[in-house]
Amino acid sequence: MTKTAAPLDTDIAVLGAGPGGYTAAFRAADLGKKVVLIDSGPRLGGVCLNVGCIPSKALLHTARAITDAAAIPGVRFSAPTIDLDAVRAGKDGIVNRLCHGLAGLARQRGVTVVNGVGRFTAPSALQVQSPQGTTEVRFAHAIIACGSAPVRLPGLPYDDPRIMDSTGALELRDVPRRLLIVGGGIIGLEMAAIYHALGSKITVVERLPQLLPGADPDLVQVLARSVATRYEGVHVGTELRFVAAAADGLHVTLAGPGGSTAQVFDRLLVAVGRRPNGALIDAQKAGVRVDPRGFIAVDAQMRTNVPTIFAIGDVVGEPMLAHKATHEARVAAEVICGHAVRFDARTIPAVAYTDPEIAWMGLTEEQARRRGTRYEAAVFPWQASGRALASGAAHGLTKVLFDPGTRRLLGAGIVGTSAGDLIAEAVLALELDAELGDLALAVHAHPTFAETLAMAAELAQGTITDLIAPRSRHAKR
Ligand code: NAD
Repeated sequence: MTKTAAPLDTDIAVLGAGPGGYTAAFRAADLGKKVVLIDSGPRLGGVCLNVGCIPSKALLHTARAITDAAAIPGVRFSAPTIDLDAVRAGKDGIVNRLCHGLAGLARQRGVTVVNGVGRFTAPSALQVQSPQGTTEVRFAHAIIACGSAPVRLPGLPYDDPRIMDSTGALELRDVPRRLLIVGGGIIGLEMAAIYHALGSKITVVERLPQLLPGADPDLVQVLARSVATRYEGVHVGTELRFVAAAADGLHVTLAGPGGSTAQVFDRLLVAVGRRPNGALIDAQKAGVRVDPRGFIAVDAQMRTNVPTIFAIGDVVGEPMLAHKATHEARVAAEVICGHAVRFDARTIPAVAYTDPEIAWMGLTEEQARRRGTRYEAAVFPWQASGRALASGAAHGLTKVLFDPGTRRLLGAGIVGTSAGDLIAEAVLALELDAELGDLALAVHAHPTFAETLAMAAELAQGTITDLIAPRSRHAKR
């Protein structure tokens, strides 16, 4: 039997407890506000912590260890024995530990957590429903952080458990013999790396002409070449046309540049993007406008069209990334607390934790061309990096884009080991409006992967000694 709890009155109601929601709640509580944090899941952390960034990184760590061990020169290991239950338990243990930590942080800050599905009933009230009952939350301010959900391709037999989204794939129920991944974006390629290392034969189909369509082609090509030799099939410009579930497998038709092919797979992962959850919260009852796709428009202070209601994270627009949400969260919480702040990040880095990793920030070459921004690019090949050669990572590249007039950094892209960590230096450089000379003259430890960013800057400056610099630049400096 369900019951109605006593209404909760609060300064701030935060709807959604992913990285955006819990950061907003914690920051507001630290600034002295009474906060209620609402989430439909049983635990804090949202998609990122429970069924996204963190479990995928745990499994990618396992995958990387398997792949790296097989590639050490002069060392032969026997084929790995995979105890899938233990791999799954390891991943779940990491997630549990972080969830437990978050619950503790909420408790210590006096944040009230309400589990259940929250929907607006008025401009200053939400109703939260759970199997245990209904709770009304009355608020002075609200922060909507309700996130996004996987896009579903129409016409697929979703009641068949062999068709998965990213959540299903991360459950790691088993290792299918042949796995078809629809969507060559970040999720598709990260899951491909995991299942390939565990023993699946992988086929990836991507509708557009390139994997990871947001990244520059020269970076993506390094990954594309690597997976082409390892996976059973990588088909760009290709769409899934038909799926029939049969006892012997999922019979699919793939339509690509060479025509249509029929194949049978044991499992299918759909990773074709995410859509915002804005349409699921009865925002109209609070007067908050939601566009037809489910996005909620906000100003630079993360305020919706209703001055007391804010929105952050995936629901306010691309890129749908946890690190964007957490920064927007601080802005929303601080604005409500009277601080004169706004969201003005110059770049939000993107990282695909693939093998090799790809990371980019600022302008890509494609964006610079589209916007008509004058730029030059310098690409440092990791073949000239001792550290990369010593680490079996000579295929990597580090690229800088810069303004040829001011020589200020405009963008950077890296493909190779730890690209996701290395990009942080470029982000800081862009935020500080660094010139290439700043990057080139800052002493980087040798031998490191981090040096490659300085080398790319030296290449652009014509001062590089580890390579022959292009003659025209060399002559000038
Ligand atoms: P995505 O947009 O990155 O990639 C989806 C891909 O599917 C695109 O390349 C698209 O062209 C392709 N596609 C769309 N329809 C298709 C079709 N019918 N057939 C074949 N291909 C099709 O989306 P995603 O990989 O699902 O990830 C969702 C969101 O989650 C993204 O915003 C992503 O940035 C985020 N995410 C980030 C990380 C990370 O930061 N490492 C990890 C996972 C997810």
